[in-house]
Amino acid sequence: MKMGTMLRDIAESFFKKSATQLYPFEKLTPPERYRGELYFSPKACTGCALCVKDCPSKAIELTIIDRAAKRYVMKYHRDRCVYCGQCVVNCKFKCLSMSNEDWEHAVLEKQFIAYYGNDDDVAQFLANLAAPAAKPAGS
Ligand code: SF4
Ligand code: SF4
Repeated sequence: MKMGTMLRDIAESFFKKSATQLYPFEKLTPPERYRGELYFSPKACTGCALCVKDCPSKAIELTIIDRAAKRYVMKYHRDRCVYCGQCVVNCKFKCLSMSNEDWEHAVLEKQFIAYYGNDDDVAQFLANLAAPAAKPAGS
């Protein structure tokens, strides 16, 4: 590129509207169907695990605590999710959704796993995980 052309481009760019946003000070409104954070509601869940089977990334695990009482805990691996939305589309009971508001996931401390379900059920699930494994009888 010739020096004259380059200087003209530089001068012109001072008067042009910026093509980018000053994120995070300026934010675009995501489209209505934007696929952000995945959410799970256990209320209508049947525990069919279709979402788990259909996920191409093995990003969700479902633990059934009590099917009759609708007590489910979903473990969601954000770092594996490719945000394809397949689990949301395939759940016949609309237990899964993706937020177009919750999409800013840059954090200082990594939080790759989210647990969904009723608070008590998640607490019980985590307590069971933390409990030391029972010793085999006779050991
Ligand atoms: S969230 Fe939907 S697809 Fe997944 S186990 Fe529950 S009912 Fe089945
Ligand atoms: S959005 Fe896609 S990758 Fe993410 S949990 Fe659902 S099916 Fe798996």
